[in-house]
Amino acid sequence: MTSPPYPVTGRLAPSPTGGLHLGHARTFLIAWLSARSTGGRVVLRVEDIDAARLRPEAISGALVDLGWIGLDWDEGPDVGGSHGPYLQSLRLESYLEMLDCLKRGELVYPCTCTRAEIARAASAPHAGEEGPSYPGTCSGRSVMDADLLGGRPFTWRFRVSDRQVDWNDLVRGLQCLNPSQHGGDFIVGRSSGEPAYQLAVVCDDHHMEVNEVIRGDDLVTSTPRQILLYEAMGWAIPRFGHVGLALDEQGKRLAKRDQSIKIETLRHRGIRPSRLLGEIGRSLGMKSSGSLCEMLDDFDLEAIPETPWVAPSVESLTG
Ligand code: GLU
Repeated sequence: MTSPPYPVTGRLAPSPTGGLHLGHARTFLIAWLSARSTGGRVVLRVEDIDAARLRPEAISGALVDLGWIGLDWDEGPDVGGSHGPYLQSLRLESYLEMLDCLKRGELVYPCTCTRAEIARAASAPHAGEEGPSYPGTCSGRSVMDADLLGGRPFTWRFRVSDRQVDWNDLVRGLQCLNPSQHGGDFIVGRSSGEPAYQLAVVCDDHHMEVNEVIRGDDLVTSTPRQILLYEAMGWAIPRFGHVGLALDEQGKRLAKRDQSIKIETLRHRGIRPSRLLGEIGRSLGMKSSGSLCEMLDDFDLEAIPETPWVAPSVESLTG
């Protein structure tokens, strides 16, 4: 395996919207192995800005689940560190600073469109997974126009240019995506005043000096948008790797609402973490018997299959 040219700082970024499932276990394990197998650092950050979907008990639950697998971190809400706080809800000031910077450059504009209006105006055949591309209805506005909206709620949208953005994905190889065809101008600031995911994640990864982002491939289309934000801010772009998501035995994507595939369920049933680690190790092409030490020795990011992982059922792990 080719080593990264610098010490790696990776991160685990759970969203506490429900308990972590076996797919999260695999993705977080890969992110952890990738950093630790090169002697790198790991930061744990809790992505709790989506207030409507937040389940406060899932914050401590995620830490317990990840600890149960055997993962550790150098910085995080429980262990502290020099880049804290490690809960996004406590970092709002740095997001506002970033948004101000984008405003100064006229890189964002105020958008008053509702979801229904966008769906009506956009050409439906091109609607991607994240919904139809934003048709640019409000893109003629400047930042100053926000003052003229007379109290109407608005979001801040980042202007996307019509060009390919490339990156060399650590798992999927060379990727080229044009963000104008994947969602178009995207929201960085919500009408509630809270930041949107794309802005918060870039802001945090930059300030936490994260240089390796390993996550699920449901976020592949977010990556070119995030690269545009790094470029706009003049910040170093991390390495990205997107791993295949987990499916159940029927071929359906694992969902947080399904209790049967939760890490917590394994814990409560007294299943040993090595059972799960062994399964995940096999899916990564390793011979390891389920020990993290062996996995660290065997780990090869480039050997990870891009394909989805069919997660074992809790029953098969019990047996
Ligand atoms: N918090 C996100 C999640 O749990 C991950 C975001 C990211 O890795 O950029 O799906």
